[in-house]
Amino acid sequence: MPKTVLVINSGSSSIKYQLVDPDIGHAMASGLVERIGEDVGHLHHRYSLREVDLNQPIADHAQALRLVLDLFDEVGPHLDEANIVAVGHRIVQGGRYFSGPALIDDRVRGLIKELSTLAPLHNPPALKGIEVAQDLLPDIPQVAVFDTAFFQDLPAQAALYALDREIAEKYSIRRYGAHGTSHQYVSKRVAEILGGKDLKQIVLHLGNGASASAIDGPHAMDTSMGLTPLEGLVMGTRTGDIDPAVVFHLQRVAGMSVDEVDVLMNRRSGLRGLAGDNDMRAVREMFRSGDHNVRQRAREALDVYINRLVKYIGAYTAEMGGVDVITFTAGIGENDIDLRREVCQRLQFFGVVLDEDANNQRPRDPITISARGSSVRVMVVPTNEELAIAKQALTLV
Ligand code: ADP
Repeated sequence: MPKTVLVINSGSSSIKYQLVDPDIGHAMASGLVERIGEDVGHLHHRYSLREVDLNQPIADHAQALRLVLDLFDEVGPHLDEANIVAVGHRIVQGGRYFSGPALIDDRVRGLIKELSTLAPLHNPPALKGIEVAQDLLPDIPQVAVFDTAFFQDLPAQAALYALDREIAEKYSIRRYGAHGTSHQYVSKRVAEILGGKDLKQIVLHLGNGASASAIDGPHAMDTSMGLTPLEGLVMGTRTGDIDPAVVFHLQRVAGMSVDEVDVLMNRRSGLRGLAGDNDMRAVREMFRSGDHNVRQRAREALDVYINRLVKYIGAYTAEMGGVDVITFTAGIGENDIDLRREVCQRLQFFGVVLDEDANNQRPRDPITISARGSSVRVMVVPTNEELAIAKQALTLV
């Protein structure tokens, strides 16, 4: 049995997991526990050709993980045969402490807890996942892999907000970025494929959350997410960039509380706010609707989404003094053929030429979608955050 890493991504009411063989990049088993703490929870486990679904109350993360480990034994692969050499935990916020993966001990757990003020929705459930995994798999080293680590060394010009320095330092306010594991993985893949060490790259990670990054050689130069994953691109339910005075206005004029504005901007905005649905496939469907109003809202949502992307591509090109490769990744980037075409059309002025046939794919492996003679290469590179976490975890055990 090859060495494997159990990758765990704990959300507030969910746990996603994969058993990964880092050498071949293959998920041997995977699954998802949802609706933890609700009346009826759901667990889906897949191993080889076998898939199992359970619907039952799942009280907390400890019970969830215990059920998962039971399923490994019942459905496979058996845990004592799986040769798990590490458990890799995805952690959203590593603050200024972590620029790479860390073997989890009391100190690391303490720091993740301390950083919960910066990621209140993400770090506490991740910590719970760590505690439960340590309890249930006490002999296996646990590694934390941070979403912010790749952006830890952003140059000051990108990391600092133009905010009163004392206040910013006192409250650890800076741009930390997020999705770093994906941006690092994808940009490395591009460099491997093109055989270039000094490429200027723009990576567009477009999933439910979305972020762009500017990467020069191996170094991240800028990224669109900030103190939290709210800044930057338009997302499924998040505003992305917005005038911060909107917050004061909503509090003073609309009488909304801080928490209400938080929910509005994080959960009820973005594609959902503009078109009525957070899922890009649904927005595309609305755009084909016979109802003029529905169609118009969907078109406006798409236009705002695309315009923001183009704005960031232009900004990052100027920041880096050029760009060699623009790469699309994640659910929308890998699958939305129209979106890639629309973005590339807007970039024609600086010589981007799309190869329509190449773009008409939803690839499983990296592809180039720009035509020969295009001033900038455009690629689609499927991201694989679990594999990236597994590989990083393996470097420490
Ligand atoms: P997450 O951030 O949850 O990991 P994903 O990377 O899975 O998100 O991306 C989810 C997004 O990808 C959704 O908006 C979904 O509509 C979109 N998506 C998936 N397939 C397609 C498709 N064929 N066309 C357009 N969008 C798609």
